Amino acid sequence: MVLGKGASSSLSMNKVDGAEEMVDNSNNFTVLVADDDPLIQKLHEMHLKKFGLKVQVVENGKKAVDLCHFGATFNLILIDKEMPVMDGAEATKELQAMGVNSLIVGVTSRDSPYEKQAFMEAGLDYCFEKPLTADKINFLLQELNKNN
Ligand SMILES: [Mg+2]
Repeated sequence: MVLGKGASSSLSMNKVDGAEEMVDNSNNFTVLVADDDPLIQKLHEMHLKKFGLKVQVVENGKKAVDLCHFGATFNLILIDKEMPVMDGAEATKELQAMGVNSLIVGVTSRDSPYEKQAFMEAGLDYCFEKPLTADKINFLLQELNKNN
């Protein structure tokens, strides 16, 4: 459980997947999920929404770059490595070059240290392996609460 700023008064018990879970709905953090796999899109969107995050999904890096280019802002950008049109590494470089003020986190199934390092060097803040888990999301919420 991660407490956001002033979260203590706004914790609520929500029914999630049939289980009672503490959900912190106090944050207004926005997340952009860039992934070309429809299953991962759905899974990650569902998971992130449970944490009270506002989620937008795009299917390639170019769309992520375009959104930010035309003024959309996100607290967190979760970006896949392998995508058509523009892959995660190239999109990350573009986003960093544009000076976006987002935490940019790679989420990839590629586990070779070389590939992960190359992805990191494109300008990621962190790189996680798929799929996102509650632990990983909690970690990212902590980072967002530190920086926002
Ligand atoms: Mg992919």
